[in-house]
Amino acid sequence: MSQRMQQGQPMIIMGEDAQRVQDKDAQEYNISAARGVAESVRSTLGPKGMDKMLVTSTGDVTITNDGVTILQEMDIDNPTAEMVVEVAETQEDEAGDGTTSAVAIAGELLKNAQDLLEQDIHPTAVIKGFNLASEYAREQVDEVATRVDPDDTETLRNVAETSMTGKGAELDKETLADLVVRAIQGVTVEADDGSHVVDLANLNIETRTGRAAGESRLLSGAAIDKDPVHEDMPTDFESANVLLLNDPIEVEEADVDTSVNVDSPDQLQKFLDQEEEQLREKVDQIVDSGADVVFCQKGIDDLAQHYLAKEGILAVRRTKKSDLTFLKNVLGAPIVTDLDSLTADDLAVGSIERDDDEELFYVEGEDAHGVTLLLYGTTEHVVDELERGIQDAIDVVSTTVSDGRTLPGGGAVEVEIARRLRDYADSVSGREQLAVEAFADSLELIPRVLAENAGLDAIDLLVDLRAAHEAGDRNAGLDVFADEVVDTADAGVVETAHAKEQAISSAAEAANLVLKIDDIISAGDLSTSGGDDEGGAPGGGMGGMGGMGGAM
Ligand code: ADP
Ligand code: MG
Repeated sequence: MSQRMQQGQPMIIMGEDAQRVQDKDAQEYNISAARGVAESVRSTLGPKGMDKMLVTSTGDVTITNDGVTILQEMDIDNPTAEMVVEVAETQEDEAGDGTTSAVAIAGELLKNAQDLLEQDIHPTAVIKGFNLASEYAREQVDEVATRVDPDDTETLRNVAETSMTGKGAELDKETLADLVVRAIQGVTVEADDGSHVVDLANLNIETRTGRAAGESRLLSGAAIDKDPVHEDMPTDFESANVLLLNDPIEVEEADVDTSVNVDSPDQLQKFLDQEEEQLREKVDQIVDSGADVVFCQKGIDDLAQHYLAKEGILAVRRTKKSDLTFLKNVLGAPIVTDLDSLTADDLAVGSIERDDDEELFYVEGEDAHGVTLLLYGTTEHVVDELERGIQDAIDVVSTTVSDGRTLPGGGAVEVEIARRLRDYADSVSGREQLAVEAFADSLELIPRVLAENAGLDAIDLLVDLRAAHEAGDRNAGLDVFADEVVDTADAGVVETAHAKEQAISSAAEAANLVLKIDDIISAGDLSTSGGDDEGGAPGGGMGGMGGMGGAM
């Protein structure tokens, strides 16, 4: 808000409660608010990162390690802090992973910018330097990246495992990484120009509790969590004509609403007969089309259920809209919206199988489109966090397939880019040079925090890392489990280049946005102690989660 207000308004008549903070105070206020947010997720970074438990005002509990989930649930109401949350959201939308890194880098950029401002360097110079550095860093990411083929299962599995390490999915990460890679490969098609397109609409995730995560499976086709409407219905078909229906098999509403005057038992009978007739007619339309199975999004009348069972037709009612849409892909069948227009052409051939627990229908199309990842977890919380981890893995593997580039993880790419940025800084003149160097320092936050979160000596390890990169080892990164510098490519710690580019640019943009503000005009109370060096939660800015910054 303040950004818009600062431009070209000659006079502002402020209300009694209004507050105004300017210049350095404004910058300090904003920087500390943004840093507070960044610091609140830092402790979750990396394989040894901690989890957070988020409790809503209604008592719902989420236990997670996922940056964007934490920030979204934190209910932040400070406008500057919200800009940082937006970094996480953009990162999540664009890359599906790297949210914690992006937010942590944004916070570190602001911290280092603050030092420069204190040396009386003008914010414009800092912003310009950050822009130069961000652009150069992204060029270098591409330079450092390794090209990867969509058939390179080994590398894709490593990408999946790296994104799952430290998450709920970790315990069974080998099994799960394998499932994720096979799922993505199952929905990847090669475009005419030779590029690879991952069609995530053809990939469904179905979560179930009560079994260990290691029992998760990949199914070709759909898994529909529904029961037949009638117990006498058949449940397994090797080859069935399937109807997808979005039209109720019930007495039409107009008829129900019309008031009927019933003067005699005869008349009542006639009315009931009419209803029965109508239901019979609808069922006959289905029978005549040749359908063996009906997935209906709407309701099915009791009497119609009985008729359908007698005809040996399997019927499911109130199928979820998303399930019906997915079945449409799997079977290549249209969704019929009016029974009156139904013909045999609207049906598709598929196989139907009831699972052993009698809870799911497995549906497979003739020329199988679509796969379902059936995810198990022992409890609801476990399966929720597992799904978030798997979703990240799906995103990174699909990005890797379509983007075709990977990077060495464990802080390796950050140290390499920082080294190159420092060389580049020599060619930058004036005070911008200092900002480019500050940008390099900020990227090295990642290996530092990875080490810190693992309880390792961050300073020593960073010295070793820099030395390895100076000596030309661009894959040198941290193995937080072995407490040493390793070749991360050999260790299988790999990330997607796209997510890293995105993280660098959104962190830089957010930092610059905050730095540009030199005047805050607030209609209400700005209850904060600007310039809080601990980077703790900005006063009043964190809703109910006030004490979280740095404490967990
Ligand atoms: P983000 O939300 O940024 O993806 P994560 O908590 O997923 O945050 O941590 C990602 C970081 O952890 C990356 O820098 C990645 O290279 C690093 N990482 C993952 N696995 C390992 C490992 N085995 N050893 C060292 N670093 C790792
Ligand atoms: Mg991650």
